[in-house]
Amino acid sequence: MSRLDGKVALVTGASRGIGAAIARRLAADGATVAVNYAGSEAAALAVVASIEAAGGRATAMQADVSDPAACTALVGRCVAELGGLDILVNNAGITRDGLLVRMSDEDWDAVIRTNLTGVFSMTRAAGRVMMKSRSGSIVNITSVVGIAGNAGQVNYSAAKAGVIGLTRTVARELAPRGVRCNAVAPGFIETDMTAKLGGDVRASTVAAIALKRFGSAADVASAVAYFASDESAYVTGQVLAVDGGMTFA
Ligand code: NAP
Repeated sequence: MSRLDGKVALVTGASRGIGAAIARRLAADGATVAVNYAGSEAAALAVVASIEAAGGRATAMQADVSDPAACTALVGRCVAELGGLDILVNNAGITRDGLLVRMSDEDWDAVIRTNLTGVFSMTRAAGRVMMKSRSGSIVNITSVVGIAGNAGQVNYSAAKAGVIGLTRTVARELAPRGVRCNAVAPGFIETDMTAKLGGDVRASTVAAIALKRFGSAADVASAVAYFASDESAYVTGQVLAVDGGMTFA
């Protein structure tokens, strides 16, 4: 028996990158997975097809996590169609980089709405379901820049720092109801998001990583799989950096 057999997992932003790797990993561990996406339907359907081809179960579900009503509807759909919700992975995220003094209100708001308010709206909706069933695991994807900061990412690092505070508060509030909440803080991972980085930024970034390479989406998915499963039954409110040794003191 696989360790997530019988569980239902919902992964936001799972049409590509880290979210797609998490969806594949949780399905390989036995969960039935809702593969959420905002606009990339074909990519999400391809993730579902790859999970099914490997013998797993998955369904694509569209919803924009920056819309609170859409988050409530997404969780409702998951419960109605898949029979419940045991694992929520808040992975969807965007970047709109720029230096503080040049950052527009629109770029600030867009990143906060998706990366922080989206996590709040999804967690609130899922928390209501999980509290009733007195079990569940919520895993939030934050970032090492939410801990250390990063020039050019004032909106993104503020949102990711907010996710860490949210994680610890939700862990405290929901622990009495048997629901855990943890966060994974990736460093630099090879995805579309980091493909935008220029060659010199890449080289200086790799120089600062103890393991001297960018991580893979599968590296992040392994940490999520741990928090999602009962292997971490006595762990809540934690933030695990998956960053190749970029940030340890
Ligand atoms: P990515 O390749 O750009 O993929 C982003 C995913 O989020 C896509 O599936 C996208 O779906 C979805 N998404 C975006 N806005 C959404 C919305 N409003 N509602 C629902 N889904 C939405 O990103 P990634 O690199 O895999 O990053 C995934 C997460 O890890 C993010 O939270 C990111 O901040 C975090 N992270 C990444 C790195 C890294 O090095 N890559 C490092 C630290 C943290 P659509 O295409 O359908 O919009």
